[in-house]
Amino acid sequence: MPIKLPSFRPRRDAYPPDLWTKCPSCGEMLFNKQLDKVLRVCPSCGHHFRLSAEARIEMLLDAGSFAERDAGLESEDPLGFVDQKAYPDRIAAAQLATGMRDAAVWGTGTIDGRPVVVCVMDFGFMGGSMGAVVGEKVTRAAEHALVARVPLFVVAASGGARMQEGTLSLMQLAKTVGALERLRAAGVPFLSLLSDPTTGGVFASFAVLGDVNIAEPNALIGFAGARVSAGTIAQELPPGFQRSEFLFQHGFLDRVVHRSELRSEVSSLLRFLVARPAPLVEDRTDGDPLGLPSFRALSFLSNLAERVLPTESEIAGATNGHSSSPATPTTPTTPSTPATPTTASTPATPTTASTTATPTTPSAPATAPVRASQPAPMSAPSPTPEATTTPEPVPGATSSEEASRG
Ligand SMILES: [Zn+2]
Repeated sequence: MPIKLPSFRPRRDAYPPDLWTKCPSCGEMLFNKQLDKVLRVCPSCGHHFRLSAEARIEMLLDAGSFAERDAGLESEDPLGFVDQKAYPDRIAAAQLATGMRDAAVWGTGTIDGRPVVVCVMDFGFMGGSMGAVVGEKVTRAAEHALVARVPLFVVAASGGARMQEGTLSLMQLAKTVGALERLRAAGVPFLSLLSDPTTGGVFASFAVLGDVNIAEPNALIGFAGARVSAGTIAQELPPGFQRSEFLFQHGFLDRVVHRSELRSEVSSLLRFLVARPAPLVEDRTDGDPLGLPSFRALSFLSNLAERVLPTESEIAGATNGHSSSPATPTTPTTPSTPATPTTASTPATPTTASTTATPTTPSAPATAPVRASQPAPMSAPSPTPEATTTPEPVPGATSSEEASRG
């Protein structure tokens, strides 16, 4: 008679990753479902795990209040960048892994019934790196907050600028800061939450410009890595100098808030920080459609961008000069020259360039080049091809000439 030997299941060396998470701080094994219930904060040591954008939105906003905007924005590959993998392949892999199109999500919602414009970054998507899409989403969120006069709330989680987009990703620093400066000047509040990690270009631009800068406990916050920072200034830096608590003690942050209290903290801040009402038409500063002061020392970049906008007086002046165009051809072109030097130089050669600048930049806000077309990275370099070919200004010039003659 054959003997039936008992069979043993092979011993598991590791816990299945979908069920358990090991706390990197205290080493405790945490059951994932339990961890989700406590907002992914380790119950034994208080370690804050990173959150996906989706989980963050669910945690912070009123249930069902979030309405995403510009969900279709996607990065392109303007540089044809290839390292170990081609950039489009990297994006596709990240999209597959996260279910997101890029590393940020923005939209509108409410917190305890108060409307708010939110933009949330996700470190899971290519390290939360900021390319043209992330920069564009932050900017659009700020612009929407400005128009709607609703506080802006941005949650940063990023390793910095996205190197695969080269200088286009660095341009996002200026773009986002320009949009936030307009928000600040208009008196619309901006809350910034710095989660783990907030570094590089995101730290160097919008993340630390909040009217209130909040951080989660023990979040890594800084520009460069600790070794690079220490090497640059050739000094020993104290341990933990890039952590929230240290930065708070040294006045760099306004609050370090435990995740369980974050929502109520933001809610009470929103109760105190109310957007200044839009200025009345008669109170508006000369010609500025948003009623912003014309000179702001803090950001000459946004100032420069605003000069591209034809003001009401300029438009009026252009039509006035139009009737007597041959007499004063050069003066109307000068306001548009600083931002678009190439386009301005070409129409300068025809006799009257007075109205050529106005058709190209009729309603261009500070970030118009990207806003004009859907995919953000495509449109960022677009001014140059337009400038070199200049198909539009020339017919515009001739027709206006004819109109003025006739
Ligand atoms: Zn722990």
